[in-house]
Amino acid sequence: MKQLQERIRQEGLILSDTVLKVDSFLNHQVDTELALQIGQEFKAIFGHQPITKVLTIEASGIQFAMAAGIALGVPFIYAKKKKAVTLAEAVYSAPVHSFTRQEDYLISISQKYLGPEDKVLIVDDFLATGAALVGLVDIVKQAGAELLGVGCVIEKSFQEGRSLLESQGISVHSLARIASMSPGEIHFIENSQTLEPVKESAGC
Ligand code: 5GP
Repeated sequence: MKQLQERIRQEGLILSDTVLKVDSFLNHQVDTELALQIGQEFKAIFGHQPITKVLTIEASGIQFAMAAGIALGVPFIYAKKKKAVTLAEAVYSAPVHSFTRQEDYLISISQKYLGPEDKVLIVDDFLATGAALVGLVDIVKQAGAELLGVGCVIEKSFQEGRSLLESQGISVHSLARIASMSPGEIHFIENSQTLEPVKESAGC
């Protein structure tokens, strides 16, 4: 998605060889028009399949799962990272290891909203190690639902997430695929470009 690559080049802050900050338009302040276009792009890629639910994980997958749900005309569900008091009913849950935060956490969704009749598209903001998405795949399996694909907004292709998912036979599509990056420079798969000079270095 050319427009997305352009915004990453213009506004992305590369904090290290592995961490890209896109807080100005994707996952803190959200460019709503771009988010809706991302939803349309997911529809163009996956919309020929009979998807019944879009699944993501809180917090930064929510706006893209919602955009995909709007484009596809289906509900989206987001897995919660902490079991809410309101989530008293039976849940599916799976452990996830966060490499960015170096901690383990449990994700869960109510069993009321996902079942064997569902055909699922998983959507997330970043594909890095794939740990978060493997947790969601686990939940889809527990529900007996069918997984039709995984759509990511940004994939850091130099990390192992894609191969981890593909080794499970999962179809993965990402809208911007980063081959490599270092502060001040970014290379996309099929398109190599240089970022604007990095001006700040805030926390991710
Ligand atoms: P995983 O390593 O499980 O694929 O990534 C889990 C989550 O970590 C992603 O959904 C995303 O929220 C966050 N994450 C991973 N890499 C980056 C990154 O380079 N930048 C930002 N902003 N978030 C990231």
